[in-house]
Amino acid sequence: MIFIKNTTIVTQNSKRQIIEDGAILAEGNKIADIGQSAKLEKKYAKAKKKTIDGRGKVAIPGLINAHTHAAMSLLRGFADDMPLNDWLEKKIWPAEAKLGPEDICRGTKMACQEMLQSGTTTFNNMYWQPAQEIRAAREIGLQDFVGLTALDSGGMDIGPAQIAAEYERLKSKTGEDIKLVLTPHSIYAVSEETLRWCKKFADDNDLLLHIHLSETEEEVKNCLAKHKCQPVEYLEKIGFLGGNVVAAHCCWLSEKEIKILAKQKVSVAHCPVSNLKLSSGVAPLGKLLKAGVNVALGTDGPASNNCLDMFGEMKIAALIHKWDERNPAAADAQTILDMATINGAKALKIDKNIGSIDIGKQADIVLIDFDKPRLKPRHNMVSHLVYAAQGGDVCGVIIGGKVLL
Ligand SMILES: [Zn+2]
Repeated sequence: MIFIKNTTIVTQNSKRQIIEDGAILAEGNKIADIGQSAKLEKKYAKAKKKTIDGRGKVAIPGLINAHTHAAMSLLRGFADDMPLNDWLEKKIWPAEAKLGPEDICRGTKMACQEMLQSGTTTFNNMYWQPAQEIRAAREIGLQDFVGLTALDSGGMDIGPAQIAAEYERLKSKTGEDIKLVLTPHSIYAVSEETLRWCKKFADDNDLLLHIHLSETEEEVKNCLAKHKCQPVEYLEKIGFLGGNVVAAHCCWLSEKEIKILAKQKVSVAHCPVSNLKLSSGVAPLGKLLKAGVNVALGTDGPASNNCLDMFGEMKIAALIHKWDERNPAAADAQTILDMATINGAKALKIDKNIGSIDIGKQADIVLIDFDKPRLKPRHNMVSHLVYAAQGGDVCGVIIGGKVLL
């Protein structure tokens, strides 16, 4: 048992409760009790437990990175200040073609360490060499939604036969911590036939689908030229959309497409830092939320961000939408924190198990050191988490009841 006492708990529960002088008891991999510290200390006085004094710290649920490419940590700083297509075709894809299995394992491990140290406990990943990714994520202890990637361009050709074989080979290695996801790269790098196959395979095997969508204006223009409709309309037309789809980016959406995403219960993984760095665009966050679309937050890969710090992502997300909507009340701190926690869990269809500090949920808890001039005075914890805290303020991480940092 782990007992965290004398701490402030930003629960992210359905009431968005904040408990001062709180305590959390974790038993096995679950949260067994939450409440006032003095009361719980008395209640569990005789229980054999490891006690963590959380004085000066704030406990939050583990952060969820809803879209990344972990092994690209190897390409951090390798190609910057370029448009997406040149960046991908001239620099990234040729470099990635040279990465071997061991490289991918090392790159993923490095990314997992970075995520762990900055409070991310679960990530939704798109890459290849999934067996190496599983090895790395298990070694560091993060929960990983491992993408089985389909790609028909960039010198890579990974199609249905290879994906189905990989799925058969890896499904016995999955568990609470590792889940397999189908990740067709995008509508421009995957054929219609393969997209249709991915949809059917995902539905048949109860898997999530994770895809890049409407990232750049060029993607939309090319789609209009080729398919005579916008990207979201195209995916709806071929029957790809549904509640198991996580669409990353979604910067260039028409009003009609926003309605389709809401109707089809697609979750969006918003990646503002990568979108700004590659000058791809700004997702219409306010309109998506108003339409009832579940929007989570992702960093995208470390080559286009260039880090995996969800605190940095939260701050930028809040700031750009205030400007984009010319409204300082847009993208308020609570909305943004929701995107990095419970909305991420909803996108990954595991909100019954993670995304908030609730009794019965998995014990994924992050402690942040608020005993710093930068995080004082304590007027508003949620405000500090979004506007002032950084990944480096994380001082403790528990995943599934195990203390990993
Ligand atoms: Zn991406």
